[in-house]
Amino acid sequence: MRYVFGNWKMNGTLAFAEEYVNKLLGEVRPASVQVALFPPFTALSSFQYLVKDSFLKFGAQNMYYEDSGAFTGEVSPVMLKEIGVDYVLIGHSERRHIFLENDEMLMKKVEAAHRHDIPVVFCVGETLEERRTGATKDVLKRQLILVQDILSRGDIVAYEPVWAIGTGVTPTMDEIRESISWVKELLKADLPVLYGGSVNKGNAVDISEVSGVDGVLVGGASLKVEEFAIIIKAF
Ligand code: 13P
Repeated sequence: MRYVFGNWKMNGTLAFAEEYVNKLLGEVRPASVQVALFPPFTALSSFQYLVKDSFLKFGAQNMYYEDSGAFTGEVSPVMLKEIGVDYVLIGHSERRHIFLENDEMLMKKVEAAHRHDIPVVFCVGETLEERRTGATKDVLKRQLILVQDILSRGDIVAYEPVWAIGTGVTPTMDEIRESISWVKELLKADLPVLYGGSVNKGNAVDISEVSGVDGVLVGGASLKVEEFAIIIKAF
């Protein structure tokens, strides 16, 4: 099985979601690719109806680790479970860097998702500075050390170098292969590992051919339904 996941980030109204999903369902019939979308929370609850009886899966971009309480602005695993999400993204680089989520917090989120049987897409990746100083392997190890024992069957890991996210710059295919193989070495379970960072219709085929790559986590290019459909077909 291969995976093509689309992270809409803070984009996409309800009206956009409705039109997008209807178009996508008419455009692709993937046989051996699992396709999932990660819309913002406001559109997320409508996905339980929009994707009903289709191949399309859906997940949340983030989640808090408590079930309920005085945590203004947060959404809990109980709430995600209620609307039937297939996945939750944990540790996206924008959560780590803009919202300062640390490794301990991310471990608690993974544990909370597991308590409620929600599979996790756990994201890791080095900054440009870390790559330049040769620290990539150490950084990936640090980001995985607290969760490598608890990530298990059903979960997925996404390798997203921070410097490739939203920049149009991607690592070389060798660099992708090396990092993904290192991530797989660190994991205790045999989990799919996706590549993310400036994936588009022009590079999807090349990335799909890199050994060890089980799929992609697409940001910007997943907002254009025609382009996302082309990426799905590349896998
Ligand atoms: P871009 O595809 O826009 O670079 O974003 C990647 C990403 O962060 C997906 O989670």
